[in-house]
Amino acid sequence: MVHNAYMALIRYTTSTGAGLGVVLGDEVAPLDVELAAGAGVEAVLAAGTSETRTLIERARRGSRRLPLGDLAALAPVPKPSKIFAVGLNYADHIAEAGMPTPETPTIFAKFPNTIAGPRDPIQRPRVSGELDYEAELAVVIGQRCRHVPRERAADVIGGYFVLNDVTVRDWQKMTPQWTIGKSFDTHAPIGPWLTLPEAVDPGDLALRTLVNGELRQQSNTRELVRDPHDLIAFISQACTLEPGDIIATGTPGGVGFLMDPPRYLAPGDEVRVEIDGVGVLLNEVVDEPADSGHIGEERLAGAYVAR
Ligand code: MN
Repeated sequence: MVHNAYMALIRYTTSTGAGLGVVLGDEVAPLDVELAAGAGVEAVLAAGTSETRTLIERARRGSRRLPLGDLAALAPVPKPSKIFAVGLNYADHIAEAGMPTPETPTIFAKFPNTIAGPRDPIQRPRVSGELDYEAELAVVIGQRCRHVPRERAADVIGGYFVLNDVTVRDWQKMTPQWTIGKSFDTHAPIGPWLTLPEAVDPGDLALRTLVNGELRQQSNTRELVRDPHDLIAFISQACTLEPGDIIATGTPGGVGFLMDPPRYLAPGDEVRVEIDGVGVLLNEVVDEPADSGHIGEERLAGAYVAR
């Protein structure tokens, strides 16, 4: 009998190709699915709950196993159709920001270009030195849905993963709209895999951020003002949610820009965001490459800064 600490779906690559698998302790049982280019775990979730369970059970009963240490975990959902995030949703973060508790969830967007893998670098942008982390529990939609009553929200949850809502603070605060400061390339590392709903109690998860081993954020999802069920009920009043859509539930206290003096991320920093029972993101900060500018295939030389 295989005991697994996590019941989770991983998207991975090895020297022989990419795939999806079930994490079973320190091994992975590959799922028998053909992944279209750009597809992730949402492809399995979209098949529907019973088919998904059948695929997982077949992999668990099968004999194929890959050592977890031999494969590279990729972003579980490489191209979500939507990434929602929530501002000011932890009691301790609201206190450090000196803000009143919002009467309505403060929903904003990150665009899918932000998605990065659980071990990918985070780019410090050419145009700002105010790079900051935000540890968050992300809930992932498993079934297409709209107008989901709060008491039915569990039916549409495909699972959970860790998300670092990386933020460029001066760009976030330049205008009342946060979107641009939240949507720089590489600024949403996710993973390391999708933890299935039955494996965790999302209302009692310890989470923390360490920068170069130094503890910066430490809290528990008990501090959430609005939980994943509240957020699904609220957001699904406005739009149809698709398998793989992500709702980042907000960050607790301890972000760098509210320290005195502020402490921002710098190249070489190792940012570790972890949620007990869900997993660990470990991303190194690097400078945005000097040749990141391009028009089509033409590389733009030099580091053009318009500001
Ligand atoms: Mn956030």
